Amino acid sequence: MARARSFVIGAVGGTIGAVAWAAIAFADNCSSELDCQQTQTYNTTTTIIATVIGVLVAVISILISQAAAAAAGAGAAAGAGAAGAAAGPPPPPMTDPPSQAGMNGALVGSTLGEDATKYVKDNNINVVFDTTDGSYWDAANNRIVINAKDNHDAAQILVHEVNHAQGQTSTTTAWNSGSKETWVNTMIDQETQGTVESIQSNQQLRDSGKTPSQTFPLENEYNAARTKGMQDYTAANPNATPAEIAKAGDDAGYARVKQGFENGEVKASTNGQSYKDYYGNDYDAKHPTPPAGGP
Ligand SMILES: [Zn+2]
Repeated sequence: MARARSFVIGAVGGTIGAVAWAAIAFADNCSSELDCQQTQTYNTTTTIIATVIGVLVAVISILISQAAAAAAGAGAAAGAGAAGAAAGPPPPPMTDPPSQAGMNGALVGSTLGEDATKYVKDNNINVVFDTTDGSYWDAANNRIVINAKDNHDAAQILVHEVNHAQGQTSTTTAWNSGSKETWVNTMIDQETQGTVESIQSNQQLRDSGKTPSQTFPLENEYNAARTKGMQDYTAANPNATPAEIAKAGDDAGYARVKQGFENGEVKASTNGQSYKDYYGNDYDAKHPTPPAGGP
């Protein structure tokens, strides 16, 4: 997989964030970056952090959090703070709190995962486990913050966030392009690619004999689209080679994930914006077009 390996670190100019809670119903149950194959419903927290580097945005990242359990935990914690003794019981402790070693171990068997851990090591990226916010790539501080409930969850998140780190150059270039459309399309493609890689990494783990504890958002949808894409292509091209069929499936899966980021199926914030709208508004807010008719 040809991907940019360049990496840029800049100074932080500011940070904005948006946290989204999306209640996902089963069937179309996987928005943001958490899928619901194994658990029927999830609340997904999606956090977007856009870090401004100098005059530019350095990075964007999203993420993930837990499902019903996390939501219940947050509710209990809030209750405890507000009502003291009247609050419910504290959330149950995680049975498998993530660690870097555990996360890296969870990725063994996945080529994409092992590439991600190697990239982190080679670039001295600091991985921080923190459940107080979402998960994101923080270019200014050369770190990836992960909010995960276990080592595999952290692992699939890492694959996604490393893709953002690897895309830093294109992120900055798109911001500097002066084109909102270029910026939005670049970021949507980056989100899509990172999501597809996490999904593919999970499949590589299964192919290696492992049983990942989680699925990534849109994983079910990706797989369904990929299967249909291969079937349709085979029907239309009876003499197609296995490679051609696989490519047709991969393209269909990618398109399905991208659709989720574009059409609002995956919500970027509490205001219900699609990622497409979110990135567009982000551009409008921080990268105003010079007034028409100027000198
Ligand atoms: Zn992302």
